[in-house]
Parts: sequence; structure tokens; C-alpha cells
Amino acid sequence: MNAASSSSNAPEGAPQHAEPGTRRLAARPACATPPQPVAQPLPRHSPAIGGLVPFSTVDWPGKLAAVVFISGCPWRCHYCHNTELQTRAARYDWRETRAFLETRTGLLDAVVFSGGEPLSEPRLPSLIRDVRRMGYRVGLHTAGIYPLRLADVLRHLDWVGLDIKADTQGYDDITGRRDSQRPALACLTQLLAAGTDFECRITWHPDWLDETRLLALARELARRGVRRFAVQGARSSPGAPPGRALGTQAQAMLSQWFAEFAYR
Ligand code: SF4
Repeated sequence: MNAASSSSNAPEGAPQHAEPGTRRLAARPACATPPQPVAQPLPRHSPAIGGLVPFSTVDWPGKLAAVVFISGCPWRCHYCHNTELQTRAARYDWRETRAFLETRTGLLDAVVFSGGEPLSEPRLPSLIRDVRRMGYRVGLHTAGIYPLRLADVLRHLDWVGLDIKADTQGYDDITGRRDSQRPALACLTQLLAAGTDFECRITWHPDWLDETRLLALARELARRGVRRFAVQGARSSPGAPPGRALGTQAQAMLSQWFAEFAYR
């Protein structure tokens, strides 16, 4: 997942915060308050819930959403702000998380699955079914690592935020993995073909991709049919200002090319 794409609130359940707040798994789910990380290992088949933000206005633009963070990601982006979510680990009990989400129906519009890479979780289709049954709309943040898994769940998604890491030349330098643009472009092709509501976004710094290359990449995305595009200025930490500002002329061009453009 794109480092700057998730809520600026750190997901609850990050390992460095787990120790003081941990407790034994409750016999009965606590529904009214957000679930806490569990101290004891969860069964091996448990979904890798790595964090929860109970309320977010930024993870699905225009929607009030709870964000469920899945831990596990095979990529190693050098700017990743969620490194604690790169390794698969179940830190929350899904039954408790689900019970909490039940208490928020009518108050929230949606549940967004983020990460890590949420499609790394084999049980994601079942989690999506659970929250759909509650009446939530469902959003997904993905780096586009698993096109086949995306195809499996796409018809159950109302919105997708797809990370575009760089142009062809720079992709693997960002992700630390070979041939990483290929699956991301396959995911983009699927989203365009399915007509799913989605946004492409890039975490950007001119040291990684200068403005000329950024504009060429964006122009190509617009040519392919992408309607929503966001440039998220790379930050040294969540909440910090972007390291380098995108020029106003570039912003003006991007605004012309896309039905919706955001610089965050
Ligand atoms: S794709 Fe994985 S490594 Fe890259 S920013 Fe997202 S979670 Fe971090």
C-alpha cells in the first residue's frame, strides 16, 4: 500500500504499541469500544488483522470509513511508513473487530481494507463478505501486487485506491522487487475494464521521479482512461509536510488531464 495513502492516524496494533495495551483474548467480544491488540497468539488460520482506525475521513475521499489494516506485504518500498505491517501477523481478533464494526453501522459509510497489502490475506473475500452483510460499502487500498486476487473480489468492491509507484524505469527502485510494474498494470487494466470507481495515486518526490517524468506517467494514465489521480507528497513521517512541493504549473496540467485531481 502507498505509504501516504492511509489515514495519518497510526493504525492501532503496531508492534511497538502492542505491549502496554495488550490483554488476553476476551471470552466475549467487546462491541462498544474499538478492539485492542491481543497478547496471545491467535490461531494460525486467523486473518492477519494488523490494525484498525475506527474513523477516517481521508482513506476513501468523501466517505466516513473505518479502516482495517491487513499485515503482510511482499514489497519493500524504501519510503514505506507501515513497515510494521510488512510482515504477516494477526494482532487483532477478527470476531472482535467485526463485532465493533457492527456497532458502527449507520454511523459510517464504509469499511476500507488497507495494509500492508490487503490482498496478501487469503481470507480477504470472507472479510469483505462480512462487512457487506452489515450494509457497508467496501473500499480497498492496494499496490496492485496480486491481479488474480483482485479479480476474485473486484465485483464486491465499491472503490479502489490503486498505488502507482513510478514509471517503468523507476518502479523496481521504489518497490525493491523485480518486474513489479507488471502486476500493477494488470490491476489497472482490470479496474478500467470493470468500470470500478477507483483512484490512482502516487507517493511522489522529485529525487525519485522528476516532474517531467511524473507528467509523462500521468499523461499515459489519463490516455488509458484513468479519471481520478492524486499526487501525495512524500513525507518523512505521517503528518509531516511534503518534503518537496509539486510545481503549480504541473498541478494545473494534471487538473486539466483528469476529471478529478488532488495534490495532498
Ligand atoms: S506496497 Fe508494501 S512496502 Fe510498499 S508502501 Fe505499501 S505496505 Fe509498504
